Amino acid sequence: MTSQLFDLTGKVAIVTGGNGGIGLGMARGLADAGASIAVVGRNEAKSQAAVTDLKARGVKAIAIATDVTDKSAVADMVARVSRELGRIDILVNNAGINIRKPPHSLDIEEWRSVIDTNLTSAFLCSKAVHAAMKAVGGGKIINIGSMMSIFGASFAPAYAASKGGIVQFTRSCACAWAADNIQANAILPGWIDTDLTRRARTEIGGLHERVLSRTPAARWGEIGDFAGIAVFLASPASDFVTGTAIPIDGGFSILG
Ligand code: NDP
Repeated sequence: MTSQLFDLTGKVAIVTGGNGGIGLGMARGLADAGASIAVVGRNEAKSQAAVTDLKARGVKAIAIATDVTDKSAVADMVARVSRELGRIDILVNNAGINIRKPPHSLDIEEWRSVIDTNLTSAFLCSKAVHAAMKAVGGGKIINIGSMMSIFGASFAPAYAASKGGIVQFTRSCACAWAADNIQANAILPGWIDTDLTRRARTEIGGLHERVLSRTPAARWGEIGDFAGIAVFLASPASDFVTGTAIPIDGGFSILG
């Protein structure tokens, strides 16, 4: 019974930004639970390396070079997944960027780039997979927010707006598609050791020490910390869980 609850054998997952960082951590979890994976990212070498890693876990995996801000590229990507992997059950909207500047220094192109990559991409990909999920009787959408879905920061005006927006977008999809048996949930990572935050550590003085002292678990998150929550939100175990936003943060968001 327990194993069936978390079994993804025969399921197909799209993971945007699945070629590294948190996306790869989730893709590995989904693969270990039996799902075939489509890795979506722009860097083809990185995506091929992720595919090799995932195939070694005994599942089918393909890489699809796609800029998730581009509507027609997203449509082509989704059509290719259906054609090559046969169906679509799970979508992880994980691709994301940050441009760290205060609001008065951020220009409109930078604003648009962050909003398009982090928020509009989730709309484009979710809309594009809806029919395929409906056709197989349901699906699971997992959107990646942030502590910036809850808090603000002087250096994150567009990023925080995008990550606050992703929670509200998640709730709207959960309401709209409940009748299609599609559950949509968000994950809110704390500070996780990835390429994204390795750059932040050089850009924000004292960040490493502040993360350690502000996180009850007293460590940075690892990409492996996202395997379990990905499997839970992608599997029958979460069939009555929808529209929620779950912090995976070592307690960062509950420390007063
Ligand atoms: P990474 O920089 O390691 O991963 C970001 C991924 O997004 C890459 O795989 C990149 O692939 C992909 N990506 C970026 N832009 C595009 C695009 N236009 N089209 C397709 N793919 C794109 O960072 P993380 O793993 O840290 O971040 C993953 C998610 O987690 C992001 O949404 C981030 O905001 C969020 N997050 C991270 C936190 C952390 O502490 N690390 C904390 C809170 C949230 P490629 O370059 O090949 O396109």
